Amino acid sequence: MTDFSSDFTMTIDGKAATAAATLPVRNPATDSVFAQVPDAGQAELDLAVAAAARAFPGWAATPVEERRAALRAIAAIVTENIQPLSRLLTQEQGRPLADALGELGATSYWATATADMALPGAETDGPQGRVITRYVPLGVVGAIVPWNYPILLSMFKILPALLTGNTLVLKPSPYTPLTSLKLGELLRGVLPDGVLNVISGGDALGPLLTAHPDIAKISFTGSTATGKRVMAGAAATLKRVTLELGGNDAAIVLPDVDVDKIAEPLFWAAFRNSGQICVATKRIYIHEDIYDRLSAALADYARGVVVGDGLEQGTRLGPVQNRLQYDRVKDLIADAKANGLTFLTGGDVDESRAGYFIPVTIVDNPPDDARVVVEEAFGPVLPLLKYRDIDDAVARANATTVGLGGSVWSSDMNAAAAVAERLETGTVQINGPASPNPHHPFGGHKQSGLGAENGPDGLLAYTNPKVISIPKG
Ligand code: NAD
Repeated sequence: MTDFSSDFTMTIDGKAATAAATLPVRNPATDSVFAQVPDAGQAELDLAVAAAARAFPGWAATPVEERRAALRAIAAIVTENIQPLSRLLTQEQGRPLADALGELGATSYWATATADMALPGAETDGPQGRVITRYVPLGVVGAIVPWNYPILLSMFKILPALLTGNTLVLKPSPYTPLTSLKLGELLRGVLPDGVLNVISGGDALGPLLTAHPDIAKISFTGSTATGKRVMAGAAATLKRVTLELGGNDAAIVLPDVDVDKIAEPLFWAAFRNSGQICVATKRIYIHEDIYDRLSAALADYARGVVVGDGLEQGTRLGPVQNRLQYDRVKDLIADAKANGLTFLTGGDVDESRAGYFIPVTIVDNPPDDARVVVEEAFGPVLPLLKYRDIDDAVARANATTVGLGGSVWSSDMNAAAAVAERLETGTVQINGPASPNPHHPFGGHKQSGLGAENGPDGLLAYTNPKVISIPKG
């Protein structure tokens, strides 16, 4: 019987592993340490990489139907343990339990959907002979993930890597290692030893992965600044990289929307998970004809949303996940205040409250160069901006170095789709937040990333093409 509240060990070569040192893990709703995890260094990483390298030839040669079955087994394990895993996820990540259940539910769905995906490959036969094109696995993959969606974002890497025949070393964020470690434990004996290794450690561990000579690829999700360091670190051994980085997603609201109908979904597009979603709406451009009505409706809705401990009934938004992020978001609010910007809601952080709680903060039509507009808040702070001319709104939405997602809100699908075509981002959603799915590529333009996850592109990213030509006779 798995104990979900203590005894957090790494999984190396299918077995429990510890390290000489440990790292504390805090509950962001209480700011108290509630667990300890192994703090892996070079020695533990070497063991994990060696185990993955030993497992690689066997796993790559395993019939694909068995690899598909392994993905379905992951889905089943997550489903069987969804209640305790979700509770643990809320305790370490902070979000309401219903949202944690949503992440674990999506994980199962993703595993099942990926298990059914067609693998690329082709064979042609002509007068000159046969040409076989295969997409062969790379070897050992290092997966590095952030703290906002620890499990689902890991799965964006684990599932395609395993299906295409690679083995893995997964490193969760030091802020949210617990659910990943327990999942690694639950999968011991389900996957062959060494196929999936899960190690925990501090920020020193990431660079060790990117530098490791026996890792063939780094799949990284996190901030743009760290992504650049990962790319530089990977260059020495010419590792393949997939980089899923930060964004500053704009929503453009056309004047024909039904204000009363869209206020609620627009609010959640921006504030779900307390704004800590890479494709959360981070700036809203609202046509001047409806600006006053829509901004009032958003502020009204915001006032009814309970911010609290994710394990408490009625909580709709949890705390910000960690102190560093809490301080960053507070600094952004302080800057808005110092510059005389107007808050429609929020703006006052109760510092006496334990935990990293920030009230829902909506800023009324700040200038385009305000920090709250230019920077990715990654917290519950949102600027509303007024526009008159759609060309101007599109130009302002695109006037950024990042291009992850975006959305257009309208009652006219054709008009909205025409605006969507003009946004310089990897994903655009009409009447909702940009959101990934297992079947379509998800990736950033500009400095939001390199490559894509999910869909056929996500599978190809874990392979090298290999062409074998066999002449006639
Ligand atoms: P972060 O870049 O600080 O950390 C991400 C991971 O990288 C962590 O596991 C961390 O330990 C590790 N790391 C830190 N320094 C490293 C280094 N030098 N080399 C290798 N690894 C290192 O990001 P974060 O604060 O955890 O996450 C928030 C950011 O992630 C936001 O910018 C958000 O937009 C972005 N994000 C992007 C996506 C996407 O799919 N594009 C999804 C979620 C989050």
